[in-house]
Amino acid sequence: MDLIALAVPFFLLALIAELAIDRRRGSGLYRANDAINSLSAGTLSTTIGYFTKLLPLIAWGFVLENFALIDMPLAWFDASPRGIALWVTAALAWDFCYYWFHRFSHEISILWAAHAVHHQSEDYNLSTALRQTSTGFLFGWIFYVPLFVIGFPLEVLVTVNAVNLIYQFWVHTQVVHRMGALDRILVTPSNHRVHHAQNEIYIDKNYGGMLILWDRLFGTFEDERDDEPVVFGVRKPLANWNPFWANLQVYDYLLFDARHARRWRDKLGIWFRRTGWRPPDVEARFPRRPVELAAFEKFDPPVAGGLRHYVLAQFGVAVAATLGIAALFAESGANAVLLPCILLWALLYTLGLLNEGRPYAVRFELARLLVIVPAGMLGIALAGHLAAPAHWLWAGTGAYLAASVAGLYAALQLSKKTVLKHELISD
Ligand SMILES: [Zn+2]
Ligand SMILES: [Zn+2]
Repeated sequence: MDLIALAVPFFLLALIAELAIDRRRGSGLYRANDAINSLSAGTLSTTIGYFTKLLPLIAWGFVLENFALIDMPLAWFDASPRGIALWVTAALAWDFCYYWFHRFSHEISILWAAHAVHHQSEDYNLSTALRQTSTGFLFGWIFYVPLFVIGFPLEVLVTVNAVNLIYQFWVHTQVVHRMGALDRILVTPSNHRVHHAQNEIYIDKNYGGMLILWDRLFGTFEDERDDEPVVFGVRKPLANWNPFWANLQVYDYLLFDARHARRWRDKLGIWFRRTGWRPPDVEARFPRRPVELAAFEKFDPPVAGGLRHYVLAQFGVAVAATLGIAALFAESGANAVLLPCILLWALLYTLGLLNEGRPYAVRFELARLLVIVPAGMLGIALAGHLAAPAHWLWAGTGAYLAASVAGLYAALQLSKKTVLKHELISD
């Protein structure tokens, strides 16, 4: 049973509820471009996960088979008091390993490169929770290996991992302010807001997943202060809406420094040193401007009204496609979803371009509609993984393309009119 997949409808409902509260209060917690970028990163992480999530499972299974110290049958984890105590122990042990995984993810460069995606949002709302990395599968699993050496069954640990992740969803909100004593025991919205801050005093704090007690124990706890409002985001901003680049940006910084470092020690060492460390010769030749928090402005390029509506409508298509692909994956596995995923990734990429207001974005969108989508659908029809008959597939694709081209045309006309109106007013 995939608990995370079961939780997705509740995630979406909670997100819509938070958005409704935000609109009613006029509190400005949501910007469409930032939320779309976060949800695109989340979609990318889930769909890339279809092709990568076997890696940790194979590694963990191997450790369990060959190195487990205690033979713990799954039957021990029943509803008896002993079974419940074992479940709680497994959940706490997982949360403990999560703390260290998360802490190293901030403190070591190559791990930060994977984790930074989660922190790039300059807003803080439930869409930020879904903003997850696509490259975490590379190293994340290593931190949980000790639990498999102890001998906890794979099924139990996969379940407590899912519970841990699901728990972390609700803390990404500004709608809940403080929670009294709970703020000192559990990870809550207040102390996780601190974790997402770029203010000096909040940096590298509050790494906990479910319990904030680990931070209090290991000296990384910081309380949210009324006199220091949280500024969300990272100090080297992403400054675009490309969900692919969001996953590569920090690797690119590291690669740049590694290429330009003169000493081999630095070329290799840079990946495993403290985040932010740069080889002295590279720092001297390519200095980076210091961060000035007072001058911080959210990335928010203007986009004409008509195109904004078009992007929102196409993002609705992306959400529906993501749910459809998830169902197809559950039924037919990774091979069946490869082409649909490529089409979805092209859509997410082009929505980023449109939200950035790039001059070539509309041309790229037209190419997607007239070339990429028909070619992809032809491939999907030939592969024959879909249960729908071919004529329904073509009718659906035709209707989508016609509506999209008409919608794009209408959006451009509307945008031209708005620009004209603005010019007349400013004249
Ligand atoms: Zn983090
Ligand atoms: Zn977070």
